[in-house]
Amino acid sequence: MEIQQLHQLFLTSNGICTDNRVVKENEIFFALRGENFNGNTFAKKALENGALQVIIDDKNVTSELDSTHYILVDDVLKTLQELARYHRNYLNIPIIGLTGSNGKTTTKELIYAVISQSYKTIATIGNLNNHIGVPLTLLRMTEETEIGIVEMGANHQKEIEFLCTIAQPNLGYITNFGKAHLEGFGGVEGVIKGKSELYTYLKQNNQTVITNLDDSKQNELTINSKRFTFGQNNNPADVLVTLKNIQPFLEIEYDYLNIKSNLIGIYNFNNIASAICIGTYFKVPKKLIKKGIESYVPSNNRSQLIQIKTNKIILDAYNANPSSMEAVLHNLSKQNSSHNYLILGDMFELGDEAWKEHLFIINLVKSLQFKDALFVGGNFYKHKSNFKEFKFFKEYKDLEEYINLNLPEKRTILVKGSRGMALERILKIL
Ligand code: ATP
Ligand code: MG
Repeated sequence: MEIQQLHQLFLTSNGICTDNRVVKENEIFFALRGENFNGNTFAKKALENGALQVIIDDKNVTSELDSTHYILVDDVLKTLQELARYHRNYLNIPIIGLTGSNGKTTTKELIYAVISQSYKTIATIGNLNNHIGVPLTLLRMTEETEIGIVEMGANHQKEIEFLCTIAQPNLGYITNFGKAHLEGFGGVEGVIKGKSELYTYLKQNNQTVITNLDDSKQNELTINSKRFTFGQNNNPADVLVTLKNIQPFLEIEYDYLNIKSNLIGIYNFNNIASAICIGTYFKVPKKLIKKGIESYVPSNNRSQLIQIKTNKIILDAYNANPSSMEAVLHNLSKQNSSHNYLILGDMFELGDEAWKEHLFIINLVKSLQFKDALFVGGNFYKHKSNFKEFKFFKEYKDLEEYINLNLPEKRTILVKGSRGMALERILKIL
């Protein structure tokens, strides 16, 4: 079947589904394959559950399907991506592409909070930012959609380049170049190269970059691009934003308006500022920009501030890597370091750098003069830190015992580690 025909069919459907268990009436089921499953084997079930058609790439299952209800293709994933690319062209709306090492989802949600007040906006749900998530996001956009926001994640070279060929962004922003997925990218220089594929795409297609002028790398890499910029105070930026307060939540001044966010952590300044910048770019009225930022409350263990008994907990257990760890530690140390209590979990996906980066964090904790720190996980455990280490977090009896005996009181407790550590479990014992 030609992609145009499939697209016609798609327009008459209720959308795409890739999970037969939740397929809804009239959706098209794409039988994707994963490491441990072959979606083709669920095609029959999907039809029974009401799917309009199933897209499959395994001849073996055709015998169990009604011939008018399946489309056999060479590769289901490629077909999904091609359909998304076709649909994106059909839509003809501005799409904002976001990538970066940290802060993509937060930034995406802030941008959504701002622009969805003035435009019908579809944005990536949660963290669906890869070669499957990006197509699915585009295929949720309809003729009614006025602006799309697409989070693009990557852990190796050429991934952003590829996602750009599907999403074809008109506006792009890189949140930061940090130490995340060092393993796949090949070091920090590799990260910069990989993320910059977004800049390259925009430049080649004469589209606009959103640049944080206070980030010298971003400035340097986009100097010859068509760009719309933001920055603090004396910059020649299109949008001037000033950090007014960081305690306990970030407050930002923008064009004589004082914006009070619900976000903690200095690193969120750029996330907020970029959302203000993009709102301005799309001419969202200033009062609505303020309202949008102020209405956004983070969720999902992502920089949440929680009060438990006498302690204030900064729960940042959604993920961690050396640069986000460093940023949050510096931020906390600006307050009274001895008042703080750190519970830090392993950072994953660092490859050969793991040993060094965990040591770096331990040394940083020392040099910033934090008094109390618990390190959790095999990577931290390898180092002698003079603090308390716990090897395994899966069976966290030791940790539980320790905390029960030494329960912190009236402290600010930072809980941060990689997703796989699921450090939010610690809340139960605090
Ligand atoms: P993922 O790779 O999982 O999609 P992400 O890039 O979408 O992550 P977020 O989920 O928004 O990032 O934030 C994850 C964590 O990264 C936050 O809880 C915070 O610790 C840190 N972080 C957020 N924004 C920044 C930033 N601009 N610079 C550095 N660290 C940040
Ligand atoms: Mg994300």
